[in-house]
Amino acid sequence: MEQELQQLEKRAKETLATLQDNSQLEDFRIEYLGRKGKFSTIMRNLGNVAKEDRPRVGQLANTIKQEIESLFEEKKLNLDQTGAKGETGDIDLTLPGRRPALGRLHPVTQIMNEVCQVFENMGFAIAEGPDVETDHYNFAALNIPEHHPARDMHDTFYISESILLRTHTSNMQARIMEKQDPPLRVIAPGKVYRCDSDITHTPMFHQVEGFLVDKKVSFADLKGVLTVFTQKVFEEDLALRFRPSFFPFTEPSAEVDIACVICKGEGCRVCKYTGWLEILGCGMIDPEVFKMVGYDPEEYSGFAFGLGVERIAMLKYGIDDIRLYYENDLRFLSQF
Ligand SMILES: [Zn+2]
Repeated sequence: MEQELQQLEKRAKETLATLQDNSQLEDFRIEYLGRKGKFSTIMRNLGNVAKEDRPRVGQLANTIKQEIESLFEEKKLNLDQTGAKGETGDIDLTLPGRRPALGRLHPVTQIMNEVCQVFENMGFAIAEGPDVETDHYNFAALNIPEHHPARDMHDTFYISESILLRTHTSNMQARIMEKQDPPLRVIAPGKVYRCDSDITHTPMFHQVEGFLVDKKVSFADLKGVLTVFTQKVFEEDLALRFRPSFFPFTEPSAEVDIACVICKGEGCRVCKYTGWLEILGCGMIDPEVFKMVGYDPEEYSGFAFGLGVERIAMLKYGIDDIRLYYENDLRFLSQF
């Protein structure tokens, strides 16, 4: 048995030295190291060895098998490396190199940057504020006192009785108006949170709030700013429609629709055959909000609007499930 093992070792080493490619390597593996290979056969016959010799022979068989296995791996590695050369052994320098995989900005970040850029070009300043906010700035300062029914629309995540995750970036209105006097032109981009999840809602999403305060600001100014905004972002001249709505911090309030980007107003599945798509809410800032920050509502007027960044991205790219943005599937994200 021991002789048999030594012969096997010798033959295996000789064969290994002559192997040229991966298919020969695989044949070798099956013949010697496989489940039905020569080493396994010997191991199975170990029972025929005299009992006192069995541990010694068994150990020898193991040592030899391990040695052959490591020589096999070494040979395989060698072949893999030299395999990079062509059949003639030359390296083809004309082959294109492998490009490193580069990351890119998330589609929501791209749209957010684009939206900010459009407003910056119209002279708006960018302001950022806290995600964890007090009840005061998120609600009370926006004319939504405690027990006001409008609070129900917000599905708020409360941290304590007076601390919450902001439900809109409108929290920046009072924060900025308290510190600065008009004229003001500000947009506030950022994350907002609501306890809501389905194909058009996620518990965290992005909003851009904008507001402008000056003397003699009218609804026509609001319409002008929003028209320029939709033209720039959707890169075409889409019709706008203002529908009366209600927000506690604007009066009058409106929801704005654009002509459907898919069917241009003809009617399709995306716009539910209405020809219109809702994109944002807006209105003239309520005099009550001005009073709370110490502006004179007789002297100043202003408008505010708030738009969902995911919503804009969905309309622009024709995506019907908002959750795709947050599944981090690179096959989806790398298309933008
Ligand atoms: Zn349509």
